[in-house]
Amino acid sequence: MHNVSAFFYMSTVNQNSKDYLIVGCGIAGLLIVEQLIQHQQSFTVIDGPTSSASMVAGGLYNPVVLKRFRAVWKASYALSVAIPTYERLEALLQSVWLYEGPIYRRLANTAEFNKWITAADQPELSPFLSVEFKRNSNSYLIADSGFGQVLRGGRLDVASLLVAFKDFLKTQRSIHEVTFDYDQLEVSSDQITYEGTSYKHLIFAEGMGVLQNPYFNSLPIQGNKGEYLKIYAPQLKLDAIYKSDIFIIPLGDHKYLVGATYDRFDQSMDPTSAARQTLVDKLKALITCDFDIIGQLAGIRPTVPDRRPVVGTHPQWSRIHILNGLGSRGVLHGPMVAKSLYDAIAYQVPIDAEIALDRFTKWVKY
Ligand SMILES: Cc1cc2nc3c(=O)[nH]c(=O)nc-3n(C[C@H](O)[C@H](O)[C@H](O)COP(=O)(O)OP(=O)(O)OC[C@H]3O[C@@H](n4cnc5c(N)ncnc54)[C@H](O)[C@@H]3O)c2cc1C
Repeated sequence: MHNVSAFFYMSTVNQNSKDYLIVGCGIAGLLIVEQLIQHQQSFTVIDGPTSSASMVAGGLYNPVVLKRFRAVWKASYALSVAIPTYERLEALLQSVWLYEGPIYRRLANTAEFNKWITAADQPELSPFLSVEFKRNSNSYLIADSGFGQVLRGGRLDVASLLVAFKDFLKTQRSIHEVTFDYDQLEVSSDQITYEGTSYKHLIFAEGMGVLQNPYFNSLPIQGNKGEYLKIYAPQLKLDAIYKSDIFIIPLGDHKYLVGATYDRFDQSMDPTSAARQTLVDKLKALITCDFDIIGQLAGIRPTVPDRRPVVGTHPQWSRIHILNGLGSRGVLHGPMVAKSLYDAIAYQVPIDAEIALDRFTKWVKY
């Protein structure tokens, strides 16, 4: 467990000079701050009132790209960093948000069953694809060919974790819930100054807010809107995550999240009737019992064309850094990527070329 009193000392000592300024406290900001706490660095977080994709995320982590029967990029390593990170946060905040468990993927037919068996034989997939299949014993699920079982997946309750984490930062007086004013920033080669406090480093973790950031707003970060339905289905009685075209995620008390959708064109934050209809249609192709829709959530995932995170240091300003692009698989990759950014800043460990900001250098403004 963290030494909280040491953290309190580090984050409040000498208010006019700190190690890090972090802008944004969705999952990206939270994970970089977790690194700072671990390494006893002092910091201030600024997090505005704009919507956060993390607050509506389903929170799934799944090491397999089920559509293609392929392991997710660096799945084993990402899991080996992610699980201890979330466990450290649970220990720090004295609660539970990580639910590890199988993900049951509906098998469409015998051909898919055979594909699964072949895939499960590959070294990179064998830790994740069980060859013990599950017969459908739930009369409200439509699944004649049963289910394959994905191992080492699960769900993080991102919204509840974020609320608790921000409450914790408030008690430490290390978060300001205001919009960051880029015009107040003074940047030099040896420090950052913002509203009278100097910092050694500034990390932007703004999600889609990066589009307003004059240092990084020309990066090819695109919004991908996602929507979920929240349903109440007392007859369904699922105790694990199920997937067909959509995921059904049990929340307890007969409530489930159903989704998500992907839309690169609609960048509004509002839930739409089109997404609601799509999700209802897909749900009715998987379950036969009645359900009530008790909520609909929408958010914009920050993604880049190659679907990898964007991590690194501004090419001109060595004290300004970015952690973004977590729109796909932020829960799984976020901890590994936050560690990688911290190690790069603190110990000059090179960032993996596949996620490094360098791959977009020509896009960044000087
Ligand atoms: C519907 C949906 C479902 C998803 N499901 C999953 C899933 O199942 N599994 C998974 O791994 N990922 C999922 N994601 C992706 C995911 O969790 C998010 O995309 C990811 O959390 C992005 O995190 P972020 O911290 O970069 O951005 P955000 O969560 O958007 O956070 C950015 C923060 O920065 C703040 N900010 C921005 N600009 C400023 C400024 N100028 N001043 C102050 N503060 C600022 C915002 O207020 C916000 O709090 C989903 C996303 C959506 C939308």
